[in-house]
Formats: sequence, structure tokens, C-alpha cells
Amino acid sequence: MNENSVSPESKREEYKVLHVWPPQKCLLCDRLTVIAHIDPVFLPDFQPKCALHGLARCPFLDETVEEREAELESVRRFVLWMHADTGRVPLVSRIADVKAIPGYEEPDVEDDEEEIGWATRYEAPDGVRLDSYVVSDYDRFFLYENGALLHQRQIEQVV
Ligand SMILES: [Zn+2]
Repeated sequence: MNENSVSPESKREEYKVLHVWPPQKCLLCDRLTVIAHIDPVFLPDFQPKCALHGLARCPFLDETVEEREAELESVRRFVLWMHADTGRVPLVSRIADVKAIPGYEEPDVEDDEEEIGWATRYEAPDGVRLDSYVVSDYDRFFLYENGALLHQRQIEQVV
């Protein structure tokens, strides 16, 4: 298969994540954010999204390398945000089965939408590393650390 031969019909709009200024109100909550998603499937396609609601998931099966990287980057943003925007996240990868996550809690509401998940490694400013998991129901992220769902950030950010 030659991946360079893309027919004009298969051209589609790319899912993009942009940095914007000044900060905008998140589409789903009152937080201000400098991240905006361009999602060609939804209107309006310009969607400011905070770190909690900021999953950048390309809805197409033929996602590009850039779109996949934007997704992992959005997971990274969320994990950092949960850690008061300190430290770094050197590792993010998709996982196949969220139910295998230690301490995984089934969503309360009946939802047709499958949840999706990632394994991440967080590194604190003092160098201490923590392996954790992130789950999304496509609207928001959830963070699992040490076998339990975290319900709060380290600090609630004052914007
Ligand atoms: Zn939000």
C-alpha cells in the first residue's frame, strides 16, 4: 500500500488544537482556557476547552500522526492540571480496556458511549514518578492514581 496516494475524495478537515489569546470560557464550564479545538464534525467547530473537558479526539478512523499526538497532548494537559500544572508527563499511551484499570469505577449513568483510557506516567518537580491512568467518557477526563479515582485537583486553580 502506498500511503502517499491520497485521492481528493478522502481529503477531510483536520482536527486541530490551537492556543488562543485572550483566554476564552470553556464550552462546558466556567473555566477560562487558552486552548481551543477545531472539530470539523461539530458546530460551532471552534470550541474553547479547559484541561478537564479538553479531550482532543479525532472522530475519524484515518487519524493523522498529528491528530493522534494532539490527543495524547490533551491527556498530558489534564494530568498536569490535576497536579497544579507542576512537573511533567513523560509518558502517555492508549490502553485497550479501561475496566482493567486498578480501582476503576463504572459510570453511574447508563451510557452507550464506550469509555476510553490511557496509561500515563507523571513526574513531580522533585523527580518522584507516579504511574497513573486517565479515562474519558468523551466529555471529560478522570484520573486514577494508586488504584483509586481522584476527585479533586491538588489545588483548584484560580484563573
Ligand atoms: Zn471545562
